[in-house]
Amino acid sequence: MERQIRQLHVFFLPLLAHGHLIPTVDMAKLFADRGAKTTITTTPLNASSFSNTIQRCQDSGMDISVKILKFPAVEVGLPEGFESADMMFSSREGNKWELIDKFNQATSMLQQPFEQLLQECKPDCLVADWFIPWATDAANKYGIPRLVFHGTSFFALCVSECIRLHEPHKKVQSGSDSFVVPNLPDNIELTKNQLPEYSAQDAETDNFTKMLKAAREAELKSYGIIVNSFYELEATENIDKAERGNKSAIDEHECLKWLDSKQPDSVLYVCFGSMNTFSFAQLNEIAVGLEASELEFIWVVRKQNNDDKDDDWLPGGFEKRMEGNGLVIRGWAPQVLILDHETVGGFMTHCGWNSTLEGVCGGVPMVTWPERAEQFYNEKLMTQVLKIGVSVGTQKWVKREAIEKAVKEMMKGERAQEMRNTAKALAQAAKKAVQKEGSSFSDLDALIEELISCCNQNMKTPKAI
Ligand code: UDP
Repeated sequence: MERQIRQLHVFFLPLLAHGHLIPTVDMAKLFADRGAKTTITTTPLNASSFSNTIQRCQDSGMDISVKILKFPAVEVGLPEGFESADMMFSSREGNKWELIDKFNQATSMLQQPFEQLLQECKPDCLVADWFIPWATDAANKYGIPRLVFHGTSFFALCVSECIRLHEPHKKVQSGSDSFVVPNLPDNIELTKNQLPEYSAQDAETDNFTKMLKAAREAELKSYGIIVNSFYELEATENIDKAERGNKSAIDEHECLKWLDSKQPDSVLYVCFGSMNTFSFAQLNEIAVGLEASELEFIWVVRKQNNDDKDDDWLPGGFEKRMEGNGLVIRGWAPQVLILDHETVGGFMTHCGWNSTLEGVCGGVPMVTWPERAEQFYNEKLMTQVLKIGVSVGTQKWVKREAIEKAVKEMMKGERAQEMRNTAKALAQAAKKAVQKEGSSFSDLDALIEELISCCNQNMKTPKAI
């Protein structure tokens, strides 16, 4: 039976980074699909990366809109148009931590104009990124609940909390000594080198550590958290998959035609997310490893800089030799379309949570190659807990032989088949969960009902502003 619901207005405030904007747009679509009014607040450049998706949603009758805030990049000493956290990692200019500080400072300056928007639009609830601690105060000011969105897995959140509380990394000497993360159901071993830079350091004083502390405090004061967990949240149409997060650097029909010509489960897909910073030497090593594996592949390489000569780092004649067997995409790839294709049989990934989930939903085993942040935790979930991943190794520099060995192990042989069977079963479970009566479907219903009852309550007892 369809329930009649009062139209709930949910505001979204994502972190300015592809990996956070993409799932936020997914969430806004899900709420809108259940009859809620949804508004995403972001900056001009970020809004343009998903404007076509929003247009299609509006055309299909969803009540979804975008409010734009000007990002004060220049005011804090960043170049004009520096509006995405992705740029901090790909930029060759300036010290990374300095850029992060400035970026956070500019994000803090959005508080006042954002509060003005809350005043004008009077939403019933705010879903804001964990990295925006002031969002809880802003929501409290207007008497509405704030939900925190981390953008990562439950597993990574648990590992992170256990490390923060018990500090097992302080009991080992060197960065490569391993320790067990206490209080987890599985025996998860990590090294200090695998921890996010910020949790390995002790400093209490730097701005970033202060911001993390504020984010933790804000989380405790907020209404709850919302997690994009395990399954793809909604079956979207192909065009939304193709333009997920950005315009593709390849025509999706060309890409699908290429995939259509291959055998089921034969193609390896290689992509390291939106912030990858591999050196040219490491990219060269990957090329040699892929060629030696003799596998068919699609390899996505981020453009580091418009001035870079793309082919400088490729081994001589690489693309000519790979013609028909290997497709190199320079720039943004239609990742979800690729992962969902039946001829794709494995994914070499940096273990960003969105990519990891997309791999699971595509039913493919993974070669895990984490680079930073909580990606090492997601790797453990894939390799040790779910057993659908092969680690490429924990070294900073990964040799061609290790790359070749890991991709072959994932794509061919008995172990590969076992992992593929498990991955396919997980993908089935994911699809079920989002169907009517599925666990995620019911969870979202329950959340919407709870938020409606919360705002009915608020209307009876308005909070002072
Ligand atoms: N993505 C994509 N094409 C690309 C690179 C990335 O569609 O060429 C998407 C990918 O599908 C995922 C997101 O960008 O949804 C990356 O998020 P993730 O959490 O995996 O990693 P991050 O980029 O935040 O490190």
